[in-house]
Amino acid sequence: MNGPPLEAEGLTLAYDQLVVAQDLSVQIPRASFTVIIGPNGCGKSTLLRALGRTLKPRAGRVLLDGEPIAALRSKDVARRLALLPQSPVAPESITVGDLVARGRYPHQGILRQWSAADARAVADALDATEVADLRDRYVAELSGGQRQRVWLAMALAQQTDLLLLDEPTTFLDIAHQFEVMDLCARLHEEGRTLVAVLHDLNQAARYATHLVAMKAGVVVAEGPPSDVVTEPLVREVFGLACRVVPDPETGTPMVVPARRDAHVRHLP
Ligand code: ADP
Ligand code: MG
Repeated sequence: MNGPPLEAEGLTLAYDQLVVAQDLSVQIPRASFTVIIGPNGCGKSTLLRALGRTLKPRAGRVLLDGEPIAALRSKDVARRLALLPQSPVAPESITVGDLVARGRYPHQGILRQWSAADARAVADALDATEVADLRDRYVAELSGGQRQRVWLAMALAQQTDLLLLDEPTTFLDIAHQFEVMDLCARLHEEGRTLVAVLHDLNQAARYATHLVAMKAGVVVAEGPPSDVVTEPLVREVFGLACRVVPDPETGTPMVVPARRDAHVRHLP
């Protein structure tokens, strides 16, 4: 299939009186690892929710493989797209194994109950995120980092071509952050399309094949990290004075904030 697997056209996104974005359009390139960056509250999660059909746009539309996502059956969407929200809420007293198994729901039906393929998908997802030993624990009893990896496992168990991840490394220590990012990179290399919201600009620049920089509900720049992560852009979008140098490990752009006396902070 050609064309973007996921596309937003002229979205107006709002909560009650609060309009977060107007006429927002974005295309997710096929087989890309797209990362959305931008300051707190600029609408990254809101956009991701709209792309994942958990928020209905006031205007405009989202296309999944060229079809209006709003017209598709929920199960059909969930077989093609998994969304890991920023602050997912687990049902009470659910174990890790049971939560991850819920990722298989879209693959089941009246005629197709739990199968060996489902069991394998769950086991693989638990292994990939290194939470297999937590399988019988209650989700509510886990640390923030453990829980984050369990949620990621649930999204992986869905085995979708499109994976939308909202700050998948929050709560993780630095080693686990890079493990999750490496896992994402592997999934991308296997041919999946990933869309992630990331906080850390340097991680974003290191892992993304396509960066989308947002400010106040508007896409201000998009393209390869080397084109997007520049000193003027970081200043414009985050109000941060910085230097951009090559990451000594990967050569990708690395943001080094200026000393405090050099800061000129323009609050976005
Ligand atoms: P980001 O993910 O970029 O930090 P969000 O998309 O979460 O930003 O939020 C964009 C704006 O929408 C913010 O002003 C936020 O307070 C508001 N907002 C987010 N979620 C809700 C909600 N469920 N109800 C009302 N306002 C919300
Ligand atoms: Mg957010």
